[in-house]
Amino acid sequence: MTALLQVEDLRIAYGKIEAVKGISFSVEAGQVVTLIGTNGAGKTTTLRTLSGLRAPLAGRITFDGEPLGALPAHEIVARGLAHSPEGRRLFPRLTIAENLQLGAFLRKDTSAVAHDIQRVYALFPVLGERRKQASGTLSGGEQQMLAMGRALMSRPKLLMLDEPSMGLSPIMMRKIMDTIRELRTQGTTILLVEQNARAALSLADHGHVMETGRIVLSGTGPQLLHDESVRKAYLGED
Ligand code: ATP
Repeated sequence: MTALLQVEDLRIAYGKIEAVKGISFSVEAGQVVTLIGTNGAGKTTTLRTLSGLRAPLAGRITFDGEPLGALPAHEIVARGLAHSPEGRRLFPRLTIAENLQLGAFLRKDTSAVAHDIQRVYALFPVLGERRKQASGTLSGGEQQMLAMGRALMSRPKLLMLDEPSMGLSPIMMRKIMDTIRELRTQGTTILLVEQNARAALSLADHGHVMETGRIVLSGTGPQLLHDESVRKAYLGED
């Protein structure tokens, strides 16, 4: 079975500084794969490159059987790769409904877009209740829901989520993680970057631990959750 996403020897630099030093991993259709690791390990840089926001120095990215190469970001969205970025990047003056519409900007199937907006409201009822509210006035958790909803509006084959739990209360974090689980049950393929290693590994099929630009350990979610070095370094256990 060929993977939906295949990353081979990917290297990414900011000027002379190599932030990602040759990583390889894959994501099979229907899986949740997570990248965990400390600040500055290169996780966000990797996602930004996969979505075409930053050019790689070297390496190959194959998505749905085609090389992504140096395609522009909108072309990558059109091929089915959506990104819910760190810090959410919503349009604060626009309403929830307008932000969701923008997530579908490449689609011409207006009635299906309306249907998908309803699907996002079913996933996150609070967004439906507040559909006319400016997104800048939402709570952090609500903004995270909207960022995820907006990424789903392109009907992605692969949804990339960067730090969805960042800055959220434990209750809100659980809600977001439950939603990721629900999306997986619905068949959505997800690449998840998380600081909260325990939450991410608990729901991931596969995980990769990144340290200073390299993948230092890989395994299934349960394997990594029980790995002693992961427990010490990332799960806060002695
Ligand atoms: P975090 O969880 O803190 O976001 P991360 O694993 O996502 O960490 P990156 O944000 O990808 O890490 O950063 C990887 C390295 O690249 C870091 O050393 C960071 O300082 C550097 N870096 C990131 N963005 C830039 C930039 N725009 N210019 C220069 N260096 C950068």
